[in-house]
Amino acid sequence: MEIREIIHLLENWAPKQIAWEKDNIGLQVGRVNNEIRSILISLDVTDEVIEEAIKKKSNLVISHHPLLFHPVRNLNFEQKRNKVIEKIIHNNITLYSAHTNLDYTRDGVSFTLAKKIGIKEINFLENIPETQYKLVTFVPSKFINQLVEALSRAGAGQIGDYSKCSFQTEGTGTFLGSETSDPFIGKKGKLERVDEIRLEMIFEKWNLSKVLKSLREVHPYEEPAYDIYPLKNENVNYGMGAIGTLQEKKKTADFVKTVKKMLKSPTVKWTRGKQNFVFKVAVCGGSGSDLIRSAIDQNCDAFITADINYHSFLDFADEIALVDVGHYYSEVVILNTIYKKILNFLKSQKKSLLVFKYYQKKDKIRVL
Ligand SMILES: [Zn+2]
Repeated sequence: MEIREIIHLLENWAPKQIAWEKDNIGLQVGRVNNEIRSILISLDVTDEVIEEAIKKKSNLVISHHPLLFHPVRNLNFEQKRNKVIEKIIHNNITLYSAHTNLDYTRDGVSFTLAKKIGIKEINFLENIPETQYKLVTFVPSKFINQLVEALSRAGAGQIGDYSKCSFQTEGTGTFLGSETSDPFIGKKGKLERVDEIRLEMIFEKWNLSKVLKSLREVHPYEEPAYDIYPLKNENVNYGMGAIGTLQEKKKTADFVKTVKKMLKSPTVKWTRGKQNFVFKVAVCGGSGSDLIRSAIDQNCDAFITADINYHSFLDFADEIALVDVGHYYSEVVILNTIYKKILNFLKSQKKSLLVFKYYQKKDKIRVL
């Protein structure tokens, strides 16, 4: 199997287009058309990770944090980061990163974190707005099901956990074909009135060309009529952080202890919040302090993230229980989700490959 097939799988799940605009995701180093020997999944790209990849004969490394984030001004292989790049190139490894696009997708970093600590009915804490279009087209009723199927395969009609979502109304279409036309229904030069269905479906805007291609392929008319509307909607398919509820109310102190245990975090900083129990909880893998206000506004009792600074703890101490579990521990749970995605894909393709996960051998940040 070629590396590009795994990249395709990852990008279908976490499209590059939803990443933070300043992020540098995707292919970092190497080629996509090499045959995969084995895969190593890691949170970071360090010398230890690349050494592990060499040991395991992995020529595809998938990391969450991109190696190349700031502009590379030189490739002086005496410098630490560049030495890692040198080792990647010398060993013919391909490095691919899925960062904020993996944070912002369903079953991505925050959803995985939420599941790991027992949160139910998970949704995004904030949805990403203005990333969708609506397609409206008009088709004879005989072709409607076929068209809905094809457009769904091209990515249209997905709303959260629901697929093939459409709205259909009956009406009459009219057209008059010119001398050079070749109408599918009726005759050229004669005004036709046809029973048609007005079909409406929404889709992610980066799927526009796929959706239009599929419309043209399946629609029976020589010139199918359609409209594309930009939407102001919040896109429920992608967003930041995650929100949900616990199975039952828990004392805040007990909840924090459980979270610490489940994430194997060596140190957790927390504030009590406005009451002594938690039920509605929000999370964000990595540095999620920007979402604290959103969690409070949605009546969450607790917010779990990392890198919360002193002033945020103080400012929000009376409004919500803030729980800082450490950056690594809030995100490392994603490795297993990526691992399972790849294994399921390999199974569906009746292929087998070795896939490894890299966990830091010893935490570089020591805790007393
Ligand atoms: Zn991170």
